[in-house]
Amino acid sequence: MIIVLKPGATKQEIDHVMEKIEKLGLKPWLSEGVERKIIGVIGEEDVLRVQPLEGIPGVEKVMPILKPYKLASLEYKSEPSTVKVAEGIIIGGKKLTVMAGPCSVEDRGMLLDIARSVKKSGANILRGGAFKPRTSPYSFQGLGEEGLKYLAEAREKTGLAIVTELMDARNLDLVMEYADILQIGARNMQNYDLLKAVGRTDKPVLLKRGMSNTIKEFLMSAEYILAGGNPNVILCERGIRTFEDFTRFTLDINAVPAIKSLSHLPLIVDPSHASGKWGLVPALSRAAVAAGADGLMIEVHPNPEDAFSDGSQSLLPDKFGKVMKEIEQIAEIMGREI
Ligand code: PEP
Ligand code: MN
Repeated sequence: MIIVLKPGATKQEIDHVMEKIEKLGLKPWLSEGVERKIIGVIGEEDVLRVQPLEGIPGVEKVMPILKPYKLASLEYKSEPSTVKVAEGIIIGGKKLTVMAGPCSVEDRGMLLDIARSVKKSGANILRGGAFKPRTSPYSFQGLGEEGLKYLAEAREKTGLAIVTELMDARNLDLVMEYADILQIGARNMQNYDLLKAVGRTDKPVLLKRGMSNTIKEFLMSAEYILAGGNPNVILCERGIRTFEDFTRFTLDINAVPAIKSLSHLPLIVDPSHASGKWGLVPALSRAAVAAGADGLMIEVHPNPEDAFSDGSQSLLPDKFGKVMKEIEQIAEIMGREI
């Protein structure tokens, strides 16, 4: 339920409405927009039918939110949200965000080289997995804390922020220590305990869409994090399973304008996992920016042939540099910048 406050509602009036909602056992969230202040109400709303809030000073109208996700919805917040990751790195504003780097952190020297290279090409966030969700238990599982240390060193040397995957809530404190953004991978999009755990922090969270999940389920997972008290959610479309097997997944480009019509949360597109083929990544990157994405996550590797994971979808550093130039032009048409 959304309570729209009158334009001139005083602080006292707002506090009174907030208290009243809490007394009814519901959770109020005050959202201060440019034009209006509204209060989102989470919980069993039926009590409000017995105790109507319309008529209380300061309240203009009370509207039900019909969607199952509330805090993630545009009804709750009509202006696009931005997530501050570090000084000067804000996701969701006019400036596009580009996260780039290897699928897995493999070794120190390689990571530092790739960090310098993607930074030079214009990326502002370094990606790299230290805990890897692999289909096979025999595949490389990641360097763990050692990998996190290399990521932190790369941040120190380049000024890039760090995004890395958290797979297990037991590693939350460890990963929090090193990462600027916690990545929740596609395979964990509906791991509700993990979502609750990151929801209790205030770290930015990059939530990847599950490969077999609908947009509604995706936004419900974002809702878990928001409802836990963490507003810093960044969505990531990374391709879904379809009958097409030429590509690894199918980039759901529909999801970009669709999610923008439903939610205020920033949205990044990952063309690398979506296609599984490096040759398709430039075109999909251009398409994502043209469709209105707030940025990209792209896998880059100096020697894809020998990559520990996802080599076939990783761009060589110079090809990544070329993609950056191309999306700069698309960004301009879209009124965005890199
Ligand atoms: C990754 O980013 O390396 C990754 C494993 O992505 P996803 O969870 O989208 O498969
Ligand atoms: Mn990968």
